[in-house]
Amino acid sequence: MQRFEPQEIVVERGCEATPMFSNLTRALPHTLLRFVDALPAEGAATEPSTAKFDAAKKRLYLAKHKGEFLKKCPGSDGQVCCNYFVINFASNCPMDCSYCYLQEYLAQNPALKAYANVDDLLTEAEQLLGKHRRYFFRIGTGEITDSLALDPYIGFTREVVPFFAEQPNVLLELKTKSNCIEELLHLDPKGRVVVSWSMNPQSVIDAEEHGTASLQERLQAARLCQDAGYRLGFHFDPMVEYPNWEHDYEEMVERLFETVDWKRISWLSMGVLRNTPGLKRAIRERLPQTRLITGEQVLGPDGKLRYFQPLRIEMYRKMLRWIRRSAPTVKIYLCMESKQVWEQVFGYAPSCEKELGAQMAPRI
Ligand code: SF4
Repeated sequence: MQRFEPQEIVVERGCEATPMFSNLTRALPHTLLRFVDALPAEGAATEPSTAKFDAAKKRLYLAKHKGEFLKKCPGSDGQVCCNYFVINFASNCPMDCSYCYLQEYLAQNPALKAYANVDDLLTEAEQLLGKHRRYFFRIGTGEITDSLALDPYIGFTREVVPFFAEQPNVLLELKTKSNCIEELLHLDPKGRVVVSWSMNPQSVIDAEEHGTASLQERLQAARLCQDAGYRLGFHFDPMVEYPNWEHDYEEMVERLFETVDWKRISWLSMGVLRNTPGLKRAIRERLPQTRLITGEQVLGPDGKLRYFQPLRIEMYRKMLRWIRRSAPTVKIYLCMESKQVWEQVFGYAPSCEKELGAQMAPRI
């Protein structure tokens, strides 16, 4: 995987005394450093623009996060929700997947930012977890960024893993398409941290997941994390349909279970490619060579375009069969799918988000 090399780091004054600032300047000693009193206007594009989105990935802002760090995952209207909380410790991503929804979601403000006030984040998490000790939380950090791609430079996991390792009622999920796990290998997660990978066959990675780790690199990283005491997760999402997709996905599933112990996997998820009309427009502008915008998709009640329902069900059932061959009782859920699809794939659908959340809670 090609490592991130920003052309410039822009630091909001007030962040100089934070661990993130020290880590950044140590990891990228030759990168141009500029200080500003507040994020400049160039950090907030006024209209969507391909060039601005491309340029945004090459400049890293270190800033203070002003609002709340933790929020409930927004899910998708009419779909079964998995009751998940997210921490936004950064915004945008140094990698560049063709299907990335940030191209639409962050079109107005695509600046690549890392938030230095991690102490505020931990205070907020402590309040939430401490107030609801009888409730089990799953918290992720990969909603509007990749959880680990910036970690070798900002050292975020060094600040948060020791905190979450001590909490009795949470699993922290670090979701990535990178192999940036060096920091994690020096920490003790005490069973409270799941490192998870979004998985696709190498042909899809080559064509659509630009700048990410190869399938082999993701598998090797997963194995190292398993050996270091982390729980593992894998997300077959977005699954892409193309001629001979079955061969590639089946082979990927086999390689996964040859590399890691399925009993150390906390959860797997499956979800097919999703688009919105706005995202399709953004992709067509930025990455017209992709094959992801040409296939037939239908609009769902949540405003998202997906493959035809019978095709989705067929894809999930096949994946489930290949997974169950090696991992008969591993926990699997569908991401942003309707109850009808759940029933057709698993023979049941969770009655509510709490039920699904409880199913995903580990036996500790
Ligand atoms: S790794 Fe995730 S956040 Fe980064 S570009 Fe790909 S889809 Fe977007």
